[in-house]
Amino acid sequence: MANFETVEVSTDLLIVGGGFAACGAATEAAYWAKKHGLKVTLVDKAALDRSGAVAMGLSAINQYVGIRDGENTAEDYVRYVRQDLMGISREDLVYNIARHVDSTVHLFEKWGLKIWTDEQGKYVHEGRWQLMINGESYKVIIAEAAKNALADAGGEIYERVFITAPLMEGNKCVGAVGFSTRENKFYVFKAKATIVAAGGAVHVFRPRSVGEGFGRSWYPPFNTGSSAYFTMKAGAEMTCQEVRFIPIRFKDAYGPVGAWFLLFKARAVSAEGGEYMAVRKDELQNWAPYGLAKPIPANLRNYLGMLDIDAGLGPLYMETAEAIGNIAKDYQDDPKAFKKKMKELESEAWEDFLDMTISQAHLWAAQNIKPEEKHSEIAACEPYFIGSHSGASGAWVSGPEDVETPYKWGHTNMCTVEGLFAAGDASGASSHKFSSGSHAEGRIAGKSAIRYIVENGQDLKVDMAEVDKLKATILAPLDLYEAHCKETTAPEINPNYILPMQFMFRLQKIMDEYAGGVTSAFKTSKSLLKRAMELFVFLKEDSEKLAARDVYDLERCWENIHRMWQGEAHIRTVFFREETRWPGYYFRSDTPRMDEENWHCFANCRWDPATGEWEMIKREIVALPGV
Ligand SMILES: Cc1cc2nc3c(=O)[nH]c(=O)nc-3n(C[C@H](O)[C@H](O)[C@H](O)COP(=O)(O)OP(=O)(O)OC[C@H]3O[C@@H](n4cnc5c(N)ncnc54)[C@H](O)[C@@H]3O)c2cc1C
Repeated sequence: MANFETVEVSTDLLIVGGGFAACGAATEAAYWAKKHGLKVTLVDKAALDRSGAVAMGLSAINQYVGIRDGENTAEDYVRYVRQDLMGISREDLVYNIARHVDSTVHLFEKWGLKIWTDEQGKYVHEGRWQLMINGESYKVIIAEAAKNALADAGGEIYERVFITAPLMEGNKCVGAVGFSTRENKFYVFKAKATIVAAGGAVHVFRPRSVGEGFGRSWYPPFNTGSSAYFTMKAGAEMTCQEVRFIPIRFKDAYGPVGAWFLLFKARAVSAEGGEYMAVRKDELQNWAPYGLAKPIPANLRNYLGMLDIDAGLGPLYMETAEAIGNIAKDYQDDPKAFKKKMKELESEAWEDFLDMTISQAHLWAAQNIKPEEKHSEIAACEPYFIGSHSGASGAWVSGPEDVETPYKWGHTNMCTVEGLFAAGDASGASSHKFSSGSHAEGRIAGKSAIRYIVENGQDLKVDMAEVDKLKATILAPLDLYEAHCKETTAPEINPNYILPMQFMFRLQKIMDEYAGGVTSAFKTSKSLLKRAMELFVFLKEDSEKLAARDVYDLERCWENIHRMWQGEAHIRTVFFREETRWPGYYFRSDTPRMDEENWHCFANCRWDPATGEWEMIKREIVALPGV
């Protein structure tokens, strides 16, 4: 076996991940842990200051309810998410986050985040729920608060440690194992409770950007399905694994469109100039009641644009020049004021990209695009798994104890596995949490996990013989490479192993061509999915032949195994749900309509660690009482 030192760390609470949910969990858990003399340990595969989806910064906080100013209620947010997810949401979880999220945003401001305010000192809204921010350093600010809280409570942070798998004792999670991405060290974290907050997944599907632009995607490449793998491998029930997210973004550099649609009120049109949201309005009848209520769900908005593409009316464009012109119109009688306003709008347009997707600014510059003069191409991205945004995939977690629902079996946000909690992208069916809601949910999970430890925490039993087996499995790709790499003149071509990049291409090809990726125009069917499952049998067999040249490759190997599990859960659940509920995210051509009678329910799944079999489960949707 590769020579890796084993480092054992004992803690009370382990937090896997270092993004928004993990930082929220750390900040809150540290407070309660200090009171009870407990230790909190956070492990991130990257560096906390710039890890996760917010690494580059953001230009808006997407969830702010505004309860203190009477703008909205938590119930309003529940209705909004129900509508956007075509009726499929865990309303107890959405409600719990919505009633806590404002206090999280107020903390962000206290910690130094600049939230835009108007002349009256009120927050500037981008849309009903969104606040504008100067967000280039958003992640740094939130990470600093988590670091301070942990330091104050005697907690620890491990950076650049890739968590590979859960540590189990029967149906109880007792920590995690992983390896350093810099040194030859294998880590064993023993914990009385574990919170998984390792984000969603990208590059499960083949991206639009191949060849020279390979790797570019809307979703950050560092989140590779570790949350899903961790919870599935632990035997946790999963939910909404079919609910992938496809954003419409500026084409090829994935620049954000929120400010254009919400703040600038720009129109999206086909190459012929027709506004698909208006021209294809009648199609929305087919998706009633959700198609007929406002706001129109994101997937249906995507779908109307996709129908234009199918009809040969592509490419699609964002009418940036028209939008800027409309806003500046009010100033046209005063040339000086007009010029000033145009300058201001132009800089806001560029700043939106510089805050969070700098490459889009590069692309605009390279293509001579001046947004005030010329429209810009938009397109549907490849599918992503991001339960905190407009997707919903994640673990099935226990709901808040004070809300009357059947979804309660343990401490709030605990999975169906003892001692294992999930938050942010890792917890499912509670879409539209975004950065602020993920942090709030992390805080909820952090507090709940500490309470679990106080009430249940016994001394840990960890079978070190099992740990040794896990270590051998995790390091196997290094051994396989070492054993065979000299047998061929070109070490990347070898009948005894497959390198991580080759494996990823194979996974992406299956997902793209059979499960409704970009090149299949997001369409799939029962037979295509069945074939994908057949191909997955071979893919899984060959995953045991993954080889690693060094520790970087080892990380790539395990990232791909995590992606593969996410892909399999997706395929199985799209297959299970015999309807099309989210056209615009995926379309099952053999069941092209929504079936409220049979499929107004959660489609859950569970991989059984004892048998290796998958179970598919329908779960009832219970609306929040009175909402
Ligand atoms: C392109 C984009 C734009 C967005 N725009 C907005 C916006 O404008 N406003 C808004 O409010 N929200 C926005 N969001 C949503 C927001 O970023 C997410 O909701 C939020 O980051 C989710 O938090 P999380 O903690 O679940 O995941 P993340 O914040 O992504 O954190 C995941 C963490 O897990 C770590 N990790 C991953 N795998 C492992 C592993 N194996 N071992 C250890 N650590 C691991 C990562 O390093 C990272 O620290 C956007 C998201 C994206 C992708």
